[in-house]
This record gives sequence, C-alpha cells and structure tokens, in this order.
Amino acid sequence: MGEHALLSASSSSRWLVCTPSARMEEKLTDTTSPYAEEGTRAHALAEQWLKEYVATGYLDEGTLAMDAHDTDGEMMEAVRRYVDIVIEKINEARTVSPDAEVHIEYHLDYSPWAPEGFGTGDTVIVSDHYIEIVDLKYGKGVPVSAVGNTQMRFYALGAHNAFGICYGYDNVKMTIVQPRLDSVSTDEISIAELLAWGTQIRPIAQQAWDGKGAPVAGVHCRFCRCRTTCRALADYMLSSVKKDFAPGAELEDWEISDIILKAKEIKSWLKDIEDYALSEALSGTTWPGLKVVEGISRRKITDEDKAASILQLNGYEHDTVYKPRELKTITELEKLCGKKHFSELLKEFIEKPEGKPTLVSETDRREPMPLQDVADDFDDTLLEDFIQKGDKTL
Ligand code: SF4
Repeated sequence: MGEHALLSASSSSRWLVCTPSARMEEKLTDTTSPYAEEGTRAHALAEQWLKEYVATGYLDEGTLAMDAHDTDGEMMEAVRRYVDIVIEKINEARTVSPDAEVHIEYHLDYSPWAPEGFGTGDTVIVSDHYIEIVDLKYGKGVPVSAVGNTQMRFYALGAHNAFGICYGYDNVKMTIVQPRLDSVSTDEISIAELLAWGTQIRPIAQQAWDGKGAPVAGVHCRFCRCRTTCRALADYMLSSVKKDFAPGAELEDWEISDIILKAKEIKSWLKDIEDYALSEALSGTTWPGLKVVEGISRRKITDEDKAASILQLNGYEHDTVYKPRELKTITELEKLCGKKHFSELLKEFIEKPEGKPTLVSETDRREPMPLQDVADDFDDTLLEDFIQKGDKTL
C-alpha cells in the first residue's frame, strides 16, 4: 500500500466530478511546496501535543515552551488554537459519554466505498452518541467549509467502518479547524445519511479507480497536477469568457463583467502554464515557436559593507549611503510573534487604511463600497493636482 491512496479523500472533490483525473495524475510526479511542508510540521506538533494530552490529561507547559524554541510564534499559536478546540470537543464527548475514545492521526479505511481508499483522521472521537472527526487545515489561502465536504465524509465512512460494529451512535460530526483564518466549521449528519451518500458515490469511485469517463473541468481543477497540460481545462478556461458574446463592435456591459469575473482564475492558470513550460524548457524540451533567453537583470553590489566604507571614506555621509532601517512586514512579524502576541504588543500602532476600489463578483461577502466617497476622493485629488500645477481655470 502506497503512502497515499489513489482515491485520496483530500482529492475526492476532484475525482468525484472528473473521474479520470486520479489515474491521469498518477502518471505525474507529486511535488511538494513550502506550504505543504509547513502544514506537515503543524500537524506533527498538533499530534505530539494531543497525544500527550490524551495520555496524561493535561498539556505540559514545559513541553510547549521547549517546542517554542524551534517553532515560529504563528505556528505555536495556530496549533495551540486547534489543540484547545479538540480538547473542548474531547471534554464535551466525555460529558455525554464518559468512555468516549480519542484517536489521534488515526488510519481510516474507506475502501468499502472507494477502491483501496484510506486516509488519516487528525482527531477521531468515538462515543455511543456520535463520532466526531476534527481536521486541522493549517493553510490560510482558501477557506474550507465542512458542510457537504467530501473529504470529511470519506473520513467519516472510514471511522464508521472501524467503530460501527462496537458503538451504537446515530450521528457523525465533521469539523474543520482553520486556525489562521479563525474559522471553525462543522457539519452534522445521521449515519443513515452518510451511508446513503456512500452508496451513491460508490459507482463513481469505481469509475475513477478504473480511470474511466471524460475529463470534466471546473473549480475543482485548481490543485490538479494535470492542470498545465489538460485540454478539458484549457477549453474550459478559453471558452469561459467567449460563450455567447453579442455580435456588435463593442463589448456589452455584461460581457465586460463576465471577463472580469473569470480574469483571476485565468491569470492563475496562465501563470501555471508559463512556469511549467519554462521548467520543461530548462530540462531540454523544445516548444514550437519558443526559445529560452536571458531575462532582464539588474546590477548588484557584491560586497555592500566594503562599498559603503569606500563611499564614506570619500566623504559621503552614513545617512546618504544607507537606506533608513526598515521594520519587517506585519505578516512577517505576526509569523515571528504569533497573531495574538503581536496584537497584544502592537495593537495601538496598527491601522488599516481603506482598501483600493476593486471589482469583484456581487456574491462576494464584502459590503459594496459607498461610491460617493470614492467620487469625493477623486475630486479632491483632481483639485489638489490643479492647484499644484497652478491651473487658473478653476
Ligand atoms: S485539470 Fe481538471 S479536467 Fe483536467 S484532469 Fe484535472 S480535474 Fe480533470
């Protein structure tokens, strides 16, 4: 058995829609990223602390302090938030069912529903009342909801497969904790609903295992390893803004909206293709009509200390030679201290200026910007500009 299942729970939102994707991805090398490695470290820390809690009934502050030496503040704080939530859930389960079992990093086999399917549940709490699966998502790029989440449902099937024979629970709770987004999302369904879902997806999983079906592109392609070479995705991207456009010489308003709504997704896909094509070209692939050239480069000083001392010896003042000392960015400092500690230390020195006007989908959760304010700002800028230029027409 490999380290990862072909029909992994984490990619299930993809292969349940695009059934050949799992076999297509299998042929490509799985690459890791700094984000994935960071996630692995956060999971290892959470596992260590929770195993200690389950074994001893408390979290040893000494161990936490030791871990703080090798871990940045942000990770310490985020993992601690997840661990505290899990501890609350363990206590909640033990209140209704004192002999509730807790398993950390538990192997979950859901192969009765998806061939050779297995995964690892970060935390699995089992009692006679319910099962609860709690998943840590360390990333903060994309918010993930537990509601209808297929990864969590496969884990729940795996947990039921392991414990259903010994326990008489009726419900399953599935919780995703994204501590860096301050997000906790839970879905709760009955075991009957879960099993009905399992029956419904079983033939689709078999099709995915067999690599059958036509590729189906959509939002689920975002993390697919085939995204740089997939024709279905290319068709989807390129046709997505060129559907039923009107015949006139100028674009209609709704057509411009349509282009803007798709722009972010298309830009990110184009960048992935450019990166892929360049890396292949550097490995020897020749792309028709393309060649590799040296990009624009900037001159640089090879020994900054020496260069500065020569300039100062020649009469240039320290302050004119050096840039002013610059504080790291808020994101870097939050990583260093942890979000909470950073806020405690520097709250009064942080302000959030108004963001630049941006066009987004009307389904975006942000409130529309009052346009009168924007117009006023615009007029003020114009006015200042005219005054500075000494325009006498005003
Ligand atoms: S990129 Fe999308 S359409 Fe293509 S194989 Fe992957 S999931 Fe399927």
